[in-house]
Amino acid sequence: MAIQKAEAFVLQRRPLRETSLIVTLLTREFGKIKVVAKGVRTGKSPTASILEPFTCLSIVYYEKTRSDIHLLSQASVIRTNSHLRNDLNCFGYASYMSEFVEQVCQIQDPHPDIFDLMNGAFDVLSRLPFLKVVRVFEVKLFGMVGWLPALTSCIGCGEKVHEQAYFSSKHGGILCARCHHGEGRGIVISKDTIQTLLYFLKLPIEQASMIAVGKQIEAELTAIIEKFLRYRLEYPLNSSHFMSEIGHLFNKKTS
Ligand SMILES: [Zn+2]
Repeated sequence: MAIQKAEAFVLQRRPLRETSLIVTLLTREFGKIKVVAKGVRTGKSPTASILEPFTCLSIVYYEKTRSDIHLLSQASVIRTNSHLRNDLNCFGYASYMSEFVEQVCQIQDPHPDIFDLMNGAFDVLSRLPFLKVVRVFEVKLFGMVGWLPALTSCIGCGEKVHEQAYFSSKHGGILCARCHHGEGRGIVISKDTIQTLLYFLKLPIEQASMIAVGKQIEAELTAIIEKFLRYRLEYPLNSSHFMSEIGHLFNKKTS
């Protein structure tokens, strides 16, 4: 068994027998991993209290060669990110982002870009409009896992799209008016919305989350992303319902 060190976020935890936990982590070095944290539920272990969602940890673990579930040896806190647990909005959105990453990342497929994206999103979530941070996060994550729809040319004829187009999740991109004609489905996507998506991809998450987005663009982005997620995800995210509820309740703070 090799000993590995990593920086990690807790994505998920579940009980294992009476005293232990299986913890799913996103590490910067090795991607998503699962570890057993032995004996942490006995009440005597200080490790249990730090294996919290959203906490950024420094971990040491024994890597098992015959199993995908490794053995946690040590964990210490780099950042508690307690601001995400102390506010209902932040908790809901951070849970959604964690669940999203948990579902789209493969086991032991290193993606430091996704780790850094999550780190950046957690950092700005309590300071910037929640929903916009989440939208930027989603779009950037699509790019990092290779799901990004084609946004600048029509996927039907290959022509550059200069005006309004139609988004097709099935085809994974935009269709020009001519190609859409025979297709009969797709959501209208304006030139400004396409430009906003391109800014979201290009700028760091903090700057991208500060771009002014009008109601029309916001509505188009929401429709496109929700439809695309329904099409691409294997199963719906538990936290997406919670997120849409709190987004509705607190909608003054989300745009
Ligand atoms: Zn076309």
